[in-house]
Amino acid sequence: MQQVSERVNLMVESATLKMAQLSRELKAEGKDVIDLSIGEPDFVTPRHIMDAAAKAMDEGFTHYTPVPGYLELRKAIADKLKRDNHIDYTPEEIVVSTGAKQSLINVIMAIVNPGDEVVVPAPYWVSYEAMVQLAEGKMVNIFTDIDQDYKFTAAQLEAAISPKTKALLYSSPCNPSGSVFTKEELEAIARVIAKYPDIIIISDEIYEYITFEGKHESIAQFDFIKNQVVTVNGFSKGYAMTGWRVGYIAAPLWIAKACNKIQGQFTSGTNSIAQKAAEAAIKGDLAPTHAMRDSFLKRRDLVVNLLKEVPGIKTNLPKGAFYVFPNVSSYFGKSYQGETIQDADDFAMYILKHANVSLVSGAAFGNDKCIRISYATSEEKLREAVRRIAEALAKLS
Ligand code: PMP
Ligand code: GLU
Repeated sequence: MQQVSERVNLMVESATLKMAQLSRELKAEGKDVIDLSIGEPDFVTPRHIMDAAAKAMDEGFTHYTPVPGYLELRKAIADKLKRDNHIDYTPEEIVVSTGAKQSLINVIMAIVNPGDEVVVPAPYWVSYEAMVQLAEGKMVNIFTDIDQDYKFTAAQLEAAISPKTKALLYSSPCNPSGSVFTKEELEAIARVIAKYPDIIIISDEIYEYITFEGKHESIAQFDFIKNQVVTVNGFSKGYAMTGWRVGYIAAPLWIAKACNKIQGQFTSGTNSIAQKAAEAAIKGDLAPTHAMRDSFLKRRDLVVNLLKEVPGIKTNLPKGAFYVFPNVSSYFGKSYQGETIQDADDFAMYILKHANVSLVSGAAFGNDKCIRISYATSEEKLREAVRRIAEALAKLS
């Protein structure tokens, strides 16, 4: 019989991309949908980065690239990691990939054997689950509540570790909660992991430049743990370069080599023009990045304050990224015209149908009492979206 593999059968579709696609379809049908589902800066890539791409084409950068990325770009990434994160990496320890998404799957495929456990604190970014599953690993979650700002503690981590644990995978700033670990919190996590030298920390720092308080901290900065850390980062969020598809890892050499090997068989080196654009981004002025961060902060304040006025929504105060992850469970069990909201999936669908606002259910992020709102959109749309949400929720009883 012609049928897809078990691997694909088991895999769930990306909930973020699915909701974004659904809102595109509804918009195409003429519905006035406000899309707060996808996590993507609404800004256009800064001019100097686009100019570098045009120049790269003119200069003939149109051929295959070295599998781990152009040396110049990897050198620039090493300089950035030194400058911003106080970590020393050689270019050989850096692998550039087609988005941080590919960086993550490379690392997971490189280190996880069937049956290995990967500790993933919830809420987590949707694709982590599918990636661990693809490697035939087992995701082990740590539950974190809104009252602990969705941040796992060293004690919770210790309790989740077993002899089968291969890796710890998390993001800070976090997608979907926006929570950010402090240096002290990261050090406590590092001290736990250092007791288990075979465990690798996969630290997803793609929202590094969208941090609202203090400064972003990298766990690899602690020398005693550095040989157990893979730092994942990319250009999509901080430089508004989602479509360019450039991400990278900085890792112990054996992991970098393994990722290189995998990438060499699947995609080869990342797009030449996008790499040249990324080089200009990383070497260039961070003023546009900071201006975008400032806009995200204004929008965060707006959306959090507006949500506080909506009865029954318990909202966190994100310290980074561009998401808010409120608990909406007080609406579970309530109905409108025979339609009852049982869980976060129903809540998101109800809001889409009755408010024309697209959100993502927290279930895909490992917390089915919450929903994720991406506030990477205009203040005007945010105001209108929350107004519509409040109106639709007021109908429930
Ligand atoms: N990690 C997290 C936490 C993300 O939110 C995203 C956004 N899609 C990625 C990784 C992947 O980013 P990229 O666009 O570089 O593949
Ligand atoms: N990271 C974004 C999000 O979580 C982009 C969509 C995706 O790649 O899943 O919405």
